[in-house]
Amino acid sequence: MVHFVGAGPGAPDLLTLRGAKLLGEAGCIIYAGSLVNPALLEMAPEGCPIYNSAEMTLEQVLDTIRAAEADGRDTVRLHTGDPCVYGAIREQMDALDAAGIPWDDTPGVSSFCGAAAALGAEYTLPGVSQSVIITRLAGRTPVPEKESLASMASHGASMVLFLSSGMLPQVQEELLKGDYTPDTPAAIVYKATWPEEKIVRCTVGTLAAKGAEAGIRKTALVLVGSFLGQGGYERSKLYDPSFTTEYREASL
Ligand code: SAH
Repeated sequence: MVHFVGAGPGAPDLLTLRGAKLLGEAGCIIYAGSLVNPALLEMAPEGCPIYNSAEMTLEQVLDTIRAAEADGRDTVRLHTGDPCVYGAIREQMDALDAAGIPWDDTPGVSSFCGAAAALGAEYTLPGVSQSVIITRLAGRTPVPEKESLASMASHGASMVLFLSSGMLPQVQEELLKGDYTPDTPAAIVYKATWPEEKIVRCTVGTLAAKGAEAGIRKTALVLVGSFLGQGGYERSKLYDPSFTTEYREASL
């Protein structure tokens, strides 16, 4: 059996209890070495073989899983953040289905949540934005034409860009083609929740310059939108005294 496990954004104590249990019982671990905190590997049972998938192809990952299966050992496939975001898990799950190897999936804290926590931010402020766009700039992996950054930016919604911090000048240019202005608040969060975490607060107009100044080129998220600004939002209905909910009568 293969357990896909979300390792969380970096801090080892952000792994879920379920993930920790699975790691502690693993018969084989394949971890995404470029971003999974190696401190998590200390939870592995003594003698458990550990492989870094950053140095492997999909075929080699599958061969390693098959060898563990033949040996009666379960594999933990450890992905950074939550496996469902840019995790390349679907191709593994489909290959495992084809090979008749069962699997399950344990979520983790995605880095876009870790970055919001680092900034003390809420993406979904009433009166500001009620949507979060998770996207990336096209790189070696293309982005469908209809999802170009400029068209995504036309909504002016809260936005998180993965895998794009090495291309900040292009990011800035594309964002400005949409509804954001040079004054729209933005932030770059490098290695959210790691000890070396770095936060750069800026605006869309200063994004590229501030990123270059801080020397950030990878392992970072770009957050954009008025949710990062000061105020300008409305109170929630949920906690409004004049609002009746399923759990509480209005008191005003
Ligand atoms: N599944 C992961 C994302 C994998 S794609 C998740 O849910 O977070 C890898 C990209 O994620 C990186 O290039 C970077 O943009 C982002 N990333 C992952 N961990 C990060 C962290 N701790 N801080 C900032 N960005 C991070």
